[in-house]
Parts: sequence; structure tokens; C-alpha cells
Amino acid sequence: MKYAEIITEIKAREVDKIFCYKVPEDMEEKIREGMRVSVPFGRGNRLTEGYVIGLSDKASTTRTLKEITEIKDEFPVLSKTSIELAKWMREKYYCTLTDCLQCMLPKFTGDRVIKYVHRGESFSDGENISERAGKQVLAVKILKEKSPVRQDILRNNYDIPYSALKSLEKKGIIKITGHEESRDLYNIENSEPKRTHSPTAEQQAVIDEIISDFDRKDKRPFLLKGVTGSGKTLVYTEVIDEAVKRGKQAIVLVPEISLTPQTVQRFISRFGSLVTVTHSKMTDGERFDQWKKARRGQVSVMIGPRSAVFATFENIGVIIIDEEHEHTYKSELTPKYDAREIAVKIQELSGATVVMGSATPAIESFYKAENGEYRLLELNHRINMRLPDIHAVDMRDEMALGNKSMFSVKLQNAIRETLERKKQIILFLNRRGHSTFVSCRKCGYVMTCESCSVSYTYHMKENRLVCHYCGSVKEIPDKCPSCGSGYIKYFGAGTEKITQEVNKLFPEARVLRMDADTTKSKDSHRQILNAFARGEADILVGTQMIAKGLDFPNVVLVGVVAADLSLNSSDYRSAENTFQLLSQVSGRAGRADSIGRVLIQTYMPENYCIEYAVNNDYINFYKEEIEFRRQMKYPPFSHICVVLFSGEDEKAVISSLHHFAEVLDFYGREKDYERIGPGAAVVSKIKDRFRHRIIIKGADEEKLKRYVFYCLDKFQKKEDLKEITVNVTINPTYIP
Ligand code: ADP
Ligand code: ZN
Ligand code: ZN
Repeated sequence: MKYAEIITEIKAREVDKIFCYKVPEDMEEKIREGMRVSVPFGRGNRLTEGYVIGLSDKASTTRTLKEITEIKDEFPVLSKTSIELAKWMREKYYCTLTDCLQCMLPKFTGDRVIKYVHRGESFSDGENISERAGKQVLAVKILKEKSPVRQDILRNNYDIPYSALKSLEKKGIIKITGHEESRDLYNIENSEPKRTHSPTAEQQAVIDEIISDFDRKDKRPFLLKGVTGSGKTLVYTEVIDEAVKRGKQAIVLVPEISLTPQTVQRFISRFGSLVTVTHSKMTDGERFDQWKKARRGQVSVMIGPRSAVFATFENIGVIIIDEEHEHTYKSELTPKYDAREIAVKIQELSGATVVMGSATPAIESFYKAENGEYRLLELNHRINMRLPDIHAVDMRDEMALGNKSMFSVKLQNAIRETLERKKQIILFLNRRGHSTFVSCRKCGYVMTCESCSVSYTYHMKENRLVCHYCGSVKEIPDKCPSCGSGYIKYFGAGTEKITQEVNKLFPEARVLRMDADTTKSKDSHRQILNAFARGEADILVGTQMIAKGLDFPNVVLVGVVAADLSLNSSDYRSAENTFQLLSQVSGRAGRADSIGRVLIQTYMPENYCIEYAVNNDYINFYKEEIEFRRQMKYPPFSHICVVLFSGEDEKAVISSLHHFAEVLDFYGREKDYERIGPGAAVVSKIKDRFRHRIIIKGADEEKLKRYVFYCLDKFQKKEDLKEITVNVTINPTYIP
């Protein structure tokens, strides 16, 4: 007798347990760990989907056991590694096993959808018919009543084989859809794999070091610190090439697929149809298709955003995380996983080599490299051997000189000169919309979204105010709602305003704008970037969307219109974020033959993160920043847990949170934990829900988590929290 340990797909925490089922005799041969099955569940014995996560000859309980009803697929959908990973994630991210499995696996949609179209010859259902034709008659009958129907339903519930449906399609009676291959957005089919460059000596040394790791037993993740334009992508492709030659597969994570079309294209040029790309616009069916291809070994390289880390390859050789400092690697939904942590765990479980690359590694990552937890690799030279020339422009001087334009004289001259040389320019601003906010010049009243407690942003094209939190739209008042004066003024500058000003100053220049407003439609990112790459514009104006990974050889000037916007945020990470952003966007200049020039306009040129960015000095920035973190007990010297309560009744939210604070104090020792708050969140209201939070710092992540969740458990048993939503985040990217 065989027994199976099974997790069901039911999400509730109470059933987040492993259940034991009997394996019927006729399944004993076939059943394997990781398979998807149907099992009767609960009192009503409702058929439920589940996953086999263990098999044994002994039952784990003495109770009478139910039997497995059906094995769903021919092969296990979960590998041993993914089962182990899910168990680890449950503890690490405090969620259910089902949550973990759902984020690892595609929706098993039943891949085909059948539609009744009754074109073509008529289908008579009289006559002496064979059993095969009988199935066709049955299918037509069902589809006439109810169309479309999923193929797996016709197969499982009515025993109609796929061949019968194929015949009906030939006759033009039905149409089988939903099984199209993923749309080939990147024209993968027609790309001829080729190797464009041979590595430089510096690249080769790094490549050799990584490849020699393949056979090593005790692996550690690599941190590849390579200045912008040092050719990190070629390192990745060479390493992957070697892994593929050894019959292994590779996962490549990029911060956001739509923002990095050039990086994706380089992998496709190198590996052709061995590559598959995951992106957010895929349908469930396409995702399922892709998953199957990976599972069956029909592709060897999976490129995608953080979720691609769960690619179920049989034998993962290497996981690459490009621009590892990007906050998009952390999920904000349950399970709140960090793709970097997942990759490191996969390394531990399956021995894959992990390479995290960046020109500006996250402070925490570089700290790990210093401690030996990661192995540091460096590319210190640009391929063209010329780092860009970076200057800060003090905007206070411009004011004093009477220049009220948003461009300093220096930047204006540089733009003019670059246009004359027929080279390209990137103008960068970390804001979208026309002006940052609209306020009254007389009384200072700022137009604010009443539901979200954040200021409205002015959008010039529609000539109205938009809340970037809830999307609500408001007309601009003629009179100040507070004092009634008519002096309403637009403050700050957005990408739209920059574009307008460029058009005024340089009417001959062709300008493209890339921000959240111009990229709403499908594929618009790629179209804008391609147009710029083809030289159809002289100037690209954009938000942080254009800071990452772009490689335009003709860009020789980068202008950062206002560096201070991102500095003013109250978060402990704001210096790091600003430094990274300035370094990344500076890195877009002068990547080919001409030397690049970067002008950073700022009101605080003496700020350390601007100074270090100007000097291209990551190491000293790091030293200063890590000291600040050490003194303030911020990560990596502590872990931060934010517990956020939100609800429509502000009084109830505040009083509940105060009660929770008391519970925290009761169970925690002062020397182990530091509590900040309760206090209002940075954005204290979103969509009419008030937000208050407590921040708890602790030295040990595991202990901190256990403590907070223990207290929450105790608290929730005592207090009725129906009207209040509780949200817990460990080491959030931004403190809410
Ligand atoms: P990074 O990601 O480090 O900023 P990229 O990988 O984009 O740098 O490389 C920068 C530029 O140098 C690209 O245009 C790339 O094609 C080119 N390049 C990379 N390696 C070589 C090489 N060995 N020989 C010639 N050109 C190279
Ligand atoms: Zn709002
Ligand atoms: Zn006013």
C-alpha cells in the first residue's frame, strides 16, 4: 500500500496542512512526487485539486483515509526543488503553502478553448454512426448549447477525445482556439543566433571565474559590480552559453521587461529560439504553454521579471539577476518574496550558480560581498575606456543670474552644441505630468486629493488635475478653495513641461517623451525606444523609465533637469535611491566612440550622494552610507518590520494600533526590539482609508518576524479587526 502527502489548492490558513491520502492500486506505478491530483475533500467530499509532496509506504495517521481520485498530468508539475522551496517560503514570508505554489505555477487553464462556428458543410446527426462519430455528435450537441467550452471539460466530463474535435474543426463546424503559441513579440523565430563580440581580457577573467563555479560544491552567489557600459551583458551571455553547452538551463531576471527591450533583444540575438520571454501581457494560456516548454526542455533560457525565478527547469545551471539593486525584485503581494533571496535559496537547494550584476549594487548586497557572503567580481573599465564627464550645475546661481528657465545656461549650451553635432540627448526627470503640484500664491493652499492626502498633479494635455494614487481627476478651480484668491499657480516641472520648453528653445529639435502617460498602450515603450534608436528624434525626455539598461551609441549628452526631487523623500533609502538613479542615468551617455557628458542640475550640489555620483565613486558613497546605516541601526544592521493598519474609521484604526503596541510591549523585551510609532503613514490616506503604522526594528530577521506575528496572533484573538486591514512588510523598499 502506498500513501501520498498532499497539499490542496484551498487557500484558507486553517487547511494549510499536509493531508494523507491512499494511493489506489492502479495508480501506484504511475504516481510520482510533484504530481497534480484530484482528491475528495471535506465532509462533502468535494473534488479538489492538490499536489503530491511526498510518498511513503506508511500512513502518517491512523485515521481512515480517502483515496486519490485522479492524476491530472503525465508528469510532475513540481520538481523536488520547488517543493522544498515552497516549504521554505512559507516560513520565510509567512504565508500558506498554497500561496507559494500558486505564485510558482501557471494557471492550469486547460489549454484549448472550443467554439461552435457551424460554417462549412452541415453536420447531420441521424444515420447509423460509429462510436467515433458518436463523440463528434455529442460534442456538437454540447457546443450548440454552450459555446465556448474548454477542451479539458469536454475530455474529462464527456470523454470526448481531441481527435474528434480535430475532425470537427476540419469540417468547419467548430474552431479550436487558445492554443496559439505565445505571440512572438520579439520576433524570436526569425532571429539567427550569433556571437557579436569576443570578450575583452577583463570580461574573460570574470567569465572564467563564474564558469569555474559550475563544478564547485559549496557555492556562494556572485556580485558582479561593473561600471555602466562595461559589458555585463556579454558576461551573462557567455556564461549562459557554457551552461547550455553542458545541458543546463538559465534564468535571466530583469527589473521590468518593457523597460529593457534592448537587453532582452541581446539574449535573443545570441540564443534565438532557445529563449523564451515572460511578460505581463501574456494570457493564462500563453503562460501555461511557456511553462510546458520549460518543463519539457524545449527552451533553455527564460528571461523575465521577478516571477521568472520560479521557472521550472529540470536542471538550472545559472540564475542571472541584472540590475540587482532594483526594488522591483521584491513582490508587494503575498507571498512578499524577494527574487534575490529565492535565487540564493535555489542555489542552496539545487546548486545553481547565481550572478547578481549592477553598476550600483544595493547597499545590503555590497555589505554581503564585504562580509564574504557573496563573492565580489568587478568590471572597472568601460568597453570604450571612457567614463562620462559628469558635472553638477548649481541652480541657485542661475536664479541669482536671473535665469528663470528650467534649463541652466550650461545645459542650454550643451544641448545646442549636441544638436549641431547631430548627436542625441537624454533629458531626465523623476516626475511625470506637467507640474508637480498646484497651489495658491496668496495663502499657500495646495490642491490635494481628498481621498488620498497627496497633492494633485497637473496634466497639461487634458488641462486638469490627476491624483497619482487613486487616479481621480479634478478640474482646476478659478479661485483658491481656501481663501478665494485668483492666484493659482503651477509649481515644479514635469516631463510634459520640459518637452514644451525644449520645443520653445530649440524649435528645430525632434523630441520624444517617455513616461507613464505616453506609454499606456501596449508595446509603446518599445516603439518609443526603437524610434529613438533609429535616430527619429534628437532628444528623449523621460522619467526613471529611461534610466535603466539602455544602450544608444549616439547619445553623448544626458541632462538631469532636477536632481533634488528624489532626495527630499523621508525614507532612509532616499540617498541610495538618488545615487543609483543618477549613476544609472549618467551611464547612458557616451557609450560608443564619443565621450559622454552629463549635467546634473541641483539646488544642493554639496549633498554627498550628488557629489559621489558626479565623481563616479560608488565605493566612497558606500562607505559613507553604510556608516550612516550602522549608526542609525538601519538595514543591514537591523531588520525593519512595518505593521500598517488601514480602515475608513480613523479613530478605530488609531485605537486598534495603540492596543497592538501594548501587545508588542507586553511580549517583547526592550533591548531586543525598537518600536517607532504608532504614527500616521507617509501617505496617511488612500482611497478614503486612513493609514497608520508601527515600525519595529530588530537585529535578527527570523526572531523579529516570529515576535511580530506571534503578537498579531494574540492580538487578533482578542480584538475584532473586521473593519481594519492589517498589512505586514519586512524590510520594505519604501517605508509607508
Ligand atoms: P553594461 O550592461 O555593463 O552597462 P553593456 O552590456 O550594455 O554594458 O555593454 C556596453 C556596450 O559595449 C554595448 O553596446 C555592447 O554591445 C558593447 N560591448 C560589450 N562587450 C564588448 C566587447 N567585448 N567588444 C566590443 N563591444 C562590446
Ligand atoms: Zn486620490
Ligand atoms: Zn488661497
